[in-house]
Amino acid sequence: MTPCQLLRNAARALAQQGVPDPAVDASLLLSHVTHIPPLSLRLDMDTLLADEEIRRFESLLARRLTREPLQYILSTVLFMGHEFRVDPRVLIPRPETELLTEMAIQLLENHPGPRVLDLCTGSGCIGISIALACPGARVTLSDISEDALAAAKNNAAQLGAEVEFLQGDLFEHAQGPYDLIISNPPYIPASDCLNLQPEVLREPRLALDGGCDGLDFYRRIAREAPAHLSSGGWLLMEIGDGQSEAVLQLLTSNGFTDAHVYRDYQQLDRMVRARYVSPEGLC
Ligand code: GLN
Repeated sequence: MTPCQLLRNAARALAQQGVPDPAVDASLLLSHVTHIPPLSLRLDMDTLLADEEIRRFESLLARRLTREPLQYILSTVLFMGHEFRVDPRVLIPRPETELLTEMAIQLLENHPGPRVLDLCTGSGCIGISIALACPGARVTLSDISEDALAAAKNNAAQLGAEVEFLQGDLFEHAQGPYDLIISNPPYIPASDCLNLQPEVLREPRLALDGGCDGLDFYRRIAREAPAHLSSGGWLLMEIGDGQSEAVLQLLTSNGFTDAHVYRDYQQLDRMVRARYVSPEGLC
C-alpha cells in the first residue's frame, strides 16, 4: 500500500470518530513511523510501505481512534522552539502559553540574575523555556503533583536547563522573594470538566479543574503572591475565556498595580500581568 492510500483510509476512519483534523493527524502519525515529512507522505503515490511500518502505524492509529491526544501518542510537543516530552501525567502545552512565556522573557531581558517561580509547572514548558532564554535567571519549577514534577525534571535534563524544583501546594515550600511569578493554573470550572473535548478529558484533571467557578487558583495566588514577590516584582498568569474582569479585580483588591489583560492569537483575553510594590517599597 502507498502512503497516499493508507492515509486516505486512516483519515476517513479518524473523521468517523469526530477527530478535528483527521488528514493532518494521520500524516503526522505516519511521519512519526517513517521519518518522512507529512506533506511528502500525503502526495506519495509510489512508495510501497514495509509491512512493519504499516503495522506500527495501525497501532498508533488505533490509539488516536480512541481520541487519545496526538501529542501523547507522539510523546512530544514543540513549545518555544524546544521539544518537550509529554504523557498523561502532564497537561499538553498550548501555543497560547508561548505568549505568556514570551512576555516573561521580555520583562526579564534587562534584569541581572532574576529569581523566577513557575507555579503549576506541569511539563515545565514555561519555566524551562524561560531558563533557556535567560541564562542569568534562577528559575524554580513547582507543582503539587509528584508525577508532573518527574516529567518536568526529565524535560529540564533533556533540554539542558538548569532549574530548581519544588513539590508542594502553590507557595507551600516557596523560598522567595521572586522577581517574577508566572503560572498557567487550572482554570476550568469544575462542572465544565465533565463536558470537555474527548482529548482534553485524557489530560490530568488536576491540571484543569479550577474549582466551582474556575477561579480558585487566582484567588489563592492573588492573595499569597505578594508575600513571595520582591518589591516591584511581576505576576503573570494565563486565564480562561471570560475570567479577565474577575481576575483583575482579585489582583487589585490584593494590592497589585499596573494590572493589564492581554489577548491571544484568537483575540481572546488570555493573560494578565500585574506588579506588586510592597508598602515599604513606597516609602
Ligand atoms: N505550566 C504547564 C502548561 O502551561 C501546566 C499547566 C497546568 O498544569 N495547569 O502547560
